[in-house]
Amino acid sequence: MSSPGRVRIVIVGCGFGGLFAAKALRDTAADVLVIDRNNYHLFQPLLYQVASAALAPADIAQPVRAILRTQRNARVILAEVTGIDLAARSLTASGQRVDYDYLVLAPGAVDNYFGHADWRAFAPGMKDIEEATLIRSRLLRSFERAEIEEDAAARAAELTFVIVGGGPTGVELAGAIKELAVDVIPRDFRRADTRRARVILIEAGDRLLPSMHADSSLRALAQLDELGVEVLLGSRVTRVLAAGVEAGGAFIPSRNVIWAAGVRPAPVIAALGAATGPGGRVAVSADCSLPGHPEVFVIGDAAYLVDARGQTVPGVSQGAMQMGRYVARLLAARISGRAAGAPAAFRYRDLGSMATVGRSRAVVEIGGLRFGGLMAWLAWLALHVTTLIGFRNRAAVFASWIYSYVFFRRGSRLIVRPRPGGDGQPHDHTD
Ligand SMILES: Cc1cc2nc3c(=O)[nH]c(=O)nc-3n(C[C@H](O)[C@H](O)[C@H](O)COP(=O)(O)OP(=O)(O)OC[C@H]3O[C@@H](n4cnc5c(N)ncnc54)[C@H](O)[C@@H]3O)c2cc1C
Repeated sequence: MSSPGRVRIVIVGCGFGGLFAAKALRDTAADVLVIDRNNYHLFQPLLYQVASAALAPADIAQPVRAILRTQRNARVILAEVTGIDLAARSLTASGQRVDYDYLVLAPGAVDNYFGHADWRAFAPGMKDIEEATLIRSRLLRSFERAEIEEDAAARAAELTFVIVGGGPTGVELAGAIKELAVDVIPRDFRRADTRRARVILIEAGDRLLPSMHADSSLRALAQLDELGVEVLLGSRVTRVLAAGVEAGGAFIPSRNVIWAAGVRPAPVIAALGAATGPGGRVAVSADCSLPGHPEVFVIGDAAYLVDARGQTVPGVSQGAMQMGRYVARLLAARISGRAAGAPAAFRYRDLGSMATVGRSRAVVEIGGLRFGGLMAWLAWLALHVTTLIGFRNRAAVFASWIYSYVFFRRGSRLIVRPRPGGDGQPHDHTD
């Protein structure tokens, strides 16, 4: 698998952390093996646009193989890592043993149902392409059922969309669904009045976007209100059923509940048996290594680190990318024997945060600057187009957005039917 005498670096996960680590190792004298259970690198910040039929899956994902095609020291395998033997310095990937000298774990996060795994069947989360297309199919199918439903109460339940979790994903999705129902599809239906669709965003805390400044929370709330999204703050979900959701003591009939309420590290992290910090993330040392194992690094959403400035590295793409690049620099210095070239402890550089609230609306925080509205939306647009991986994706996304903006249309409104016993087709739990 590796050339004799060459250092073997294995990277598990090719999301933001893994990809940026792999790319930054391009010029090292090491063999880099990248393992991912998906064959694509996914730009998760735009997943909600796939779920709300604005973009197609291929617009926001790129085959890992294609991205690393010209990097001669990198090899890619499609496999799921299920076990890690720290003592033997090996792992199990789809049943095969893989040995490493250095291991970089960047498996990201999965949805956290806080002990209610059964809710998942009725309230899917949105972590990968499969889940986003499942949500898209469920949304679109609800409109279809509303078109033929005779009973008014049942039709209202079809046209009630509940999103649990008022972080950036929940806020963005709520705005996008409301716009789909009100601006994009009304003229396509004859009997269902999709403009009457209710979009309800439920947040247990007392404000939206808790990771941002309170000004941004208020701005996002006002913008959602303008759009007609109903926001329930301080309301905890206590039950999720096929017929709806119970929150704050009231039952909301809905055939479409979406989970955006929290994350926990990918299950493979449990194989480390390591000490964890808040949210179950692995508590890593100042250089992102696993305590007691200087040859193992955990980065991105799976890692918990309070950096040298006392700042907790947030579970966002910048955190993962910066950790990926940092670990690559550290490894490059170690491999070349230049201890002096090794970077000091990891420091997170906060480049700001933003969330969009539908067409022409967003909130942005950069440095001490906080703003909303059209300028914020344009900044959001520019950042997302420029940070997408691959020219084709950038061009496709830009073209789709212009098309949607000018014509109030969405180009990816396909219902993908689940194939019983099929080969990896999204499984739609509503059927
Ligand atoms: C819907 C959504 C919206 C978001 N919006 C924003 C945003 O606007 N701005 C922002 O900064 N951040 C956003 N984030 C967060 C950001 O995407 C994450 O912080 C970032 O992706 C973390 O990078 P990572 O490398 O740790 O993990 P990921 O990017 O999640 O990559 C993990 C990779 O590991 C692979 N993997 C997992 N387990 C295994 C295994 N056992 N074997 C093999 N491969 C495995 C996965 O297939 C995946 O490719 C969003 C996330 C989501 C889900």
